[in-house]
Amino acid sequence: KEKTSFRLLDVINKTISLVEGTFTQNQISIQLDAAGDPAVNGYPNEYSQVLLNIFLNARDAFVQRDISGPRLVTVRIYMEEGKTVVCIVDNAGGIGEDIMIRIFDPYFTTKGPDKGTGVGLFMSKTIIEKNMNGRITVRNTGAGAEFRIEV
Ligand code: ADP
Ligand code: MG
Repeated sequence: KEKTSFRLLDVINKTISLVEGTFTQNQISIQLDAAGDPAVNGYPNEYSQVLLNIFLNARDAFVQRDISGPRLVTVRIYMEEGKTVVCIVDNAGGIGEDIMIRIFDPYFTTKGPDKGTGVGLFMSKTIIEKNMNGRITVRNTGAGAEFRIEV
């Protein structure tokens, strides 16, 4: 399939609009912090799918853990060494260090069988790393999880 050049901010804003309803319903604020509007080469719809899964995973973490107080998802865009970096940070408590190495595995989920399929992050890794030659990584910040996508 042909790669196309697309504006990252367009895809991010479009994806944010998809979760606006469920985020509002669950008292989650989303904040966008963009240092420019870079164009990237690749697959915009697939990139949107990756973001969508990360946003919904954050929502699920807030809800499952019943996090009270400000529920915040921050999306940061910046350039680093010629690469375009998007970081998605939440304050939903983070990911257990014991499962950190498994979250990108196919079918790994901590949600009920009727709730999670465990393919979201596996597909995300395929899209970003195999199809777009980028990199997706995760770490805990202390308050929550931070996913970093570099393409
Ligand atoms: P699913 O959403 O179907 O469970 P994913 O591949 O999207 O599958 O995610 C795998 C697992 O990673 C989740 O079940 C959850 O345990 C963990 N996870 C992903 N994102 C977060 C997050 N932001 N905070 C806490 N745990 C997370
Ligand atoms: Mg998911």
